[in-house]
Amino acid sequence: MAQLAVRGKQVPHLVAVLVGNNGASETYVASKVKACEEVGFKSTLIRLEDSISSLKLLDIIAELNTDPDVDGILVQLPLPEHISADEVINAIDPNKDVDGFHPNNVGRMVLGQPSFIPATPYGIMLLLEHYKVETRGRHAVVVGRSHIVGRPMSILLSGNGNPGNATVTICHSHTKNVKEICLTADIIIAALGRPNFITADMVKEGAAIIDVGITRVPDTSKKSGYKITGDVDFETVAPKCSYITPVPGGVGPMTIAALMKNTFKACALKHYYDEKESV
Ligand code: NAP
Repeated sequence: MAQLAVRGKQVPHLVAVLVGNNGASETYVASKVKACEEVGFKSTLIRLEDSISSLKLLDIIAELNTDPDVDGILVQLPLPEHISADEVINAIDPNKDVDGFHPNNVGRMVLGQPSFIPATPYGIMLLLEHYKVETRGRHAVVVGRSHIVGRPMSILLSGNGNPGNATVTICHSHTKNVKEICLTADIIIAALGRPNFITADMVKEGAAIIDVGITRVPDTSKKSGYKITGDVDFETVAPKCSYITPVPGGVGPMTIAALMKNTFKACALKHYYDEKESV
């Protein structure tokens, strides 16, 4: 990135908006800001009071949308109850929507068109690609159907690409036989936020397991008073599978890496496009 600055190029600038004092959100935003520092991006953290009005927040986003110095905007979720997350996401310029949550980007992703892909599923796709985990023709089970993880993950895995071309089953809280479905999976993406939900008796020998879960579980032996726990019972599941991601240290860092890639892409599309810089 320093080289970009030396060559007179715009250095990518990410703006993170944090509303309120949610402990987990503070941690996530801090790690995104730190990652920007590490890769040499500019970052700005806008902290707002819990009590901010929806209108005021929308005003701030409108300003960021038109600020030529800003390449990427992310609004850390969840937002306070009096603010509609949909309304806020819809207000972000799709070309600066590095979280990939705007309906334009979601629609483009579904159609297989170039778009910003939500960071967590994008990071998982990069992981599968890097480790050459075969997805074509395989049965992938995604547990969880949220807009930010499970749903986009199911779309990407079933898409006509590599990784992709998997046969995908998506499970949610109304699914009756999650265990039986998981037992038929070559790949399990666990994204439900229930600590240690996926146990060894739910996993086929040789399956690849991606654990997205991050839950703070009380632990008096830790200074913080909690430990971060995934959705997979790592100790019992690991001996059965071909691949497994740890928590912490697996999907989390890949999510951050994917966000950095999206931020670079947003900057490159805006500033370097004419010069055909690779994105
Ligand atoms: P979410 O919005 O709460 O969605 C959870 C999903 O899991 C819902 O679709 C829910 O079904 C489903 N579910 C809940 N209990 C279930 C059960 N017993 N059986 C089957 N499905 C069940 O959560 P999220 O935002 O997707 O996050 C999921 C987890 O990933 C959380 O622990 C979160 O902290 C973590 N996360 C990690 C990263 C990362 O970077 N590593 C990024 C984002 C999220 P319904 O739709 O029917 O309610």
